[in-house]
Amino acid sequence: SKIIIAIDGYSSCGKSSTAKGVAKSLGYQYIDTGAMYRAVTLYFIQNHISLTNPKEVDSALDRIEIEFRANSEGKSDTYLNGLNVEEEIRKLYVADKVSDVAAIAAVRHAMVREQQRMGKKKGFVLDGRDIGTVVFPGAELKIFMTADPMVRAQRRQAELLDKGELVDLEEVLENIKKRDIIDTTRDESPLRQADDAHLLDTTFMTLDEQIEKVVLLADT
Ligand code: C5P
Repeated sequence: SKIIIAIDGYSSCGKSSTAKGVAKSLGYQYIDTGAMYRAVTLYFIQNHISLTNPKEVDSALDRIEIEFRANSEGKSDTYLNGLNVEEEIRKLYVADKVSDVAAIAAVRHAMVREQQRMGKKKGFVLDGRDIGTVVFPGAELKIFMTADPMVRAQRRQAELLDKGELVDLEEVLENIKKRDIIDTTRDESPLRQADDAHLLDTTFMTLDEQIEKVVLLADT
């Protein structure tokens, strides 16, 4: 029978690639919760929302609608108020602000509510920072991914280069380290490994090995 798989961990450990591969292999649906925080961040940047003004934040959240729609290649694209923002939300200027936005309690509450609604049925793989601890604490399978920061930076740089964004390795490493600190030290549901999560260090693993490992755990 179908289950919920929660994949949490640090940035650029291969969570989303692994989650996508697992979903494909099991015939599950994939929800990229990081994309939701990125879409909110893009909206806040575009509309000059002040992060320290709770009224502004609340009313902005009321005006934000996020959806995932399959594209012609069968991949899921992120839509913000009806516009495809998949490419834009992956850029470094969004990544640079996202952890600050994701640290706001009102933002987290709105996203968690939406994620719980989306994943109501079983047969879901979600990746993020708080899936096994907050969004679906009852998930049947929880994975916590880590990897060496330099390896993560190299992977992220290659990914950005793939999309035509040329960035300095040091800059990516700084962004990753900065996000690690904000994500693990924020007051509102900080990133941490759930007690019942399996630790997966991907430093020396290929993507296929990561997928295989999670699928194996899902089967047992
Ligand atoms: O996974 P991704 O790198 O796209 O996530 C972007 C940022 O969104 C993370 O650095 C984190 O600050 C935030 N996030 C979060 N909770 C989630 C998913 C992402 O706080 N469930």
